[in-house]
Amino acid sequence: MKPPKRWIGIFLIILILVSACSTVPVTGRKQLRLIPSSTMLPMSFQQYDEFLKSHKISTNKEQVRLVKRVGNRIQKAVEEYFVERDMSYQLKDYAWEFNLVESPEVNAWCMPGGKVVVYTGILPMTKDEAGLAVVMGHEIAHAIAAHGNERMSQGLAVQMGGMALSTALAEKPEKTRQLWMAAFGLGSQFGVMLPYSRLHESEADHLGLVFMAIAGYDPSHAIGFWQRMAQGKGGKAPPEFMSTHPASETRIRKIRALIPEVMPYYKKSG
Ligand SMILES: [Zn+2]
Repeated sequence: MKPPKRWIGIFLIILILVSACSTVPVTGRKQLRLIPSSTMLPMSFQQYDEFLKSHKISTNKEQVRLVKRVGNRIQKAVEEYFVERDMSYQLKDYAWEFNLVESPEVNAWCMPGGKVVVYTGILPMTKDEAGLAVVMGHEIAHAIAAHGNERMSQGLAVQMGGMALSTALAEKPEKTRQLWMAAFGLGSQFGVMLPYSRLHESEADHLGLVFMAIAGYDPSHAIGFWQRMAQGKGGKAPPEFMSTHPASETRIRKIRALIPEVMPYYKKSG
């Protein structure tokens, strides 16, 4: 007996949804990743190169070295975490890069595949190496948890009628680029800020604390950083990072509550 066509359709949809379902490391949340890495990463690498070409990379040797050192340490921590859990294959197409860009913007982000940018404008807020590890750990966590992919999938569904990324890129390149920038925290260039959801923020905080701790940075420094953010001290420029990353009392309280859980990673690292 042949099954009706409708059933085959339903079966296929279920198959697609099951295969598109991934698990976020550390928190174990199930998420829908509609855009495959094979599409996501080449676009990420291209956008990253274009961004670097159109922005001034800092020539402050000491600060550049600091950003690269913190980045490398967190990268190693992430890799260690993934090796221990037999998940290294998830990082195989990563091409890590850490750059400091000359800009008064209080901002930092990480695109898929480990492409990180820190703006010089956020350095007065991060204050020292551990403070920088809080920000970079948090941004790398967004990328590891594929939050941009989720945001991009949502944007494609809501604003472009469920188009596939490759189709959207071919048919509406400029709109797709704007959507991409907003999904990864670079929206201020286009005037479209897209704050991360509370779920994504607490998840990135949690993963970020774990990674910074494995990297050998005391995770309790995160409290001080977010307190400085809440007071808005350090920069005169429009705080992009603030509008996408609200530093509320609730956030600081949640981070404080996570410290005992992530401390063993830090102790082990020493
Ligand atoms: Zn965030």
